[in-house]
Amino acid sequence: MSPTSYQAAPPRKNSVSLTKNMSQIKRFQLVTLLFFFLFVLPIYSNDFKIQISSSVKQGEILSLNLSEPAKNKKISVLFLERETPCYLTKETGWECLIGIPADAPAGNQSLAILIDGSTQTLVNIEIVSCPFPMETLTLTQEKKSLLTQKGRDIEVKIIKEALRTESKTRSWDKKFLKPLEGKIESLYGEKRVLDGKPMAGFHRGLDIGAPKGTPIKSIHHGTVILASEFIEEGNMVMIDHGQGIISAYLHLSKILVAPGQKVGQGEPVGNVGSTGISTSPHLHFGAYIHSTPIDPLYLFNFP
Ligand SMILES: [Zn+2]
Repeated sequence: MSPTSYQAAPPRKNSVSLTKNMSQIKRFQLVTLLFFFLFVLPIYSNDFKIQISSSVKQGEILSLNLSEPAKNKKISVLFLERETPCYLTKETGWECLIGIPADAPAGNQSLAILIDGSTQTLVNIEIVSCPFPMETLTLTQEKKSLLTQKGRDIEVKIIKEALRTESKTRSWDKKFLKPLEGKIESLYGEKRVLDGKPMAGFHRGLDIGAPKGTPIKSIHHGTVILASEFIEEGNMVMIDHGQGIISAYLHLSKILVAPGQKVGQGEPVGNVGSTGISTSPHLHFGAYIHSTPIDPLYLFNFP
């Protein structure tokens, strides 16, 4: 659940380099080929090739790859008025991950690739609107009183600070795990109504129902950056997976890790509970890309 909004502004993406892909493309079936040319186009600049999708949905991850021979330059992407760093990877050259929040403006947006702070290339990206559902919340008086409890301002500052964590080393390589098997009770992006009034922001994660005490697993290797009790989130754990990816586990009955601790993929970080603003035992799972909340369902299919 967790009603408070503390996400940063959104980002986006575009294009693709085809040269190395042509032999593989010939093996694709016609439908796949048509899809590829409709949505992923090559962009060539003077010095490098860019690979990026020409459209992205609200809540999705926009991934940009570019080849750039000079390794001692600062490369970043400016999208939706926000600058996001690119990281040099062994496999693809430079890579930049951009989180598109549920409330990103739909339509065409310009993305700029910056080298040492100056714009080198502009790419047009279409942000596709998603019909996020509306959900009516019913809270007990006791849980509702948490919404006005003193000390919330300080907590929000602590959470925002944790979300700004960005270790330069990537601790993820293969697929991300689901933290828990269970019934999905609320989707990312839902707009909430409480006592007949719309609440600010949107649901910034996925609610997965499970019996109290069920173990919750870390979705990948990483370092614990937050493990504490908060008014709305209840017992919460946040894990930094490196290069801008952070996972968050809310409403736990018990926290099993401590800040600074290294965790492996699949390692238990806590147990399912209903602490904070929650109506029944469940895990609110949040996924953040450079502090922007994205739909966790996309992360489970990434990279
Ligand atoms: Zn939730």
